[in-house]
Amino acid sequence: MGKSYQKQWVGVFGDPVDDNPTVVMEQAAFDYAEIPMEYLTIQVKRGDLKAAMEGMRAMNFSGINITMPHKGEVIQYLDEISDSAKTMGAVNTVYWKDGKLAGENTDGKGFLKSLQDGQVPIKGKKAMILGAGGAARAIAVELAGAGIAVVTVVNRNEEHGQALVKIINEKTAAEGVFMPWKETVSVPEDTDILVNATPIGFTDEGKPDIAYDDLKEGMAVCDVIPNKAWTPFLLEAKNRGLRTFNGLQMLVNQGAVAFELWTGKPAPMDVMRKAMEKEYGVTLP
Ligand code: NDP
Repeated sequence: MGKSYQKQWVGVFGDPVDDNPTVVMEQAAFDYAEIPMEYLTIQVKRGDLKAAMEGMRAMNFSGINITMPHKGEVIQYLDEISDSAKTMGAVNTVYWKDGKLAGENTDGKGFLKSLQDGQVPIKGKKAMILGAGGAARAIAVELAGAGIAVVTVVNRNEEHGQALVKIINEKTAAEGVFMPWKETVSVPEDTDILVNATPIGFTDEGKPDIAYDDLKEGMAVCDVIPNKAWTPFLLEAKNRGLRTFNGLQMLVNQGAVAFELWTGKPAPMDVMRKAMEKEYGVTLP
């Protein structure tokens, strides 16, 4: 065979998308694994997604990540989607499966992998999630799929919170409970897994307004904030001797799932993690 100048394309469609760091870990992984894939960060404006999806099919993209504001709309342009993505109503990874364009949501799977790697029991346990947006939804659905008994959703906007509780109660085997977030929230003593799924701590040094003295031995405390190893929220838990799970590892884990869907090969986790650590100037515990 002669030399091939052709690359396989993957990437991300979103808007805004310029601050999306996924290219860093995926490209590092492709290069390390010597896979001729190139990850493109592509601005697709609201209203242009249909054309973009037709374009990715026409140009034989090997897959694509989907981010804001397209995670829901993309579903109608796919041939099939996974059960969990259907429950969430959101797809963040598109890949080819037996000649069909398929949709998956890897966000919650990345979260779950962190807990499973840490051998945190999930079946029959109780989780409390702060926030009710896309990250919260993905995490709640995956926890339910892994057998969690109860998910308490704490949210400022009651309508958003109740919408997630409805999904949990009607579309999963877990029990969903809503808790309003108007003042400092107490964490029930029997909480096993506590998750910050709000953006608090991303661009600031703030932390969610909860009663930190309620944190009890044995709780697993998790953050979705992807650009830090230690958020003030996680430090509160660490200082109380609790186990913590950060959003950067979750990000790497979900990127690894996408890598595997696109390439059919095991993801070089260490390479991806190191690339993100370097990017953010942090060292993961
Ligand atoms: P959304 O905008 O969909 O949801 C944000 C949620 O946070 C809403 O429930 C909102 O409440 C709540 N919220 C926002 N600000 C505050 C505040 N100051 N106090 C209390 N609640 C607040 O965002 P996403 O779910 O998509 O993203 C949330 C975070 O998760 C982001 O920082 C994102 O980077 C991160 N993320 C990380 C991933 C990873 O792999 N590590 C993957 C996906 C996301 P309300 O409804 O009341 O407005």
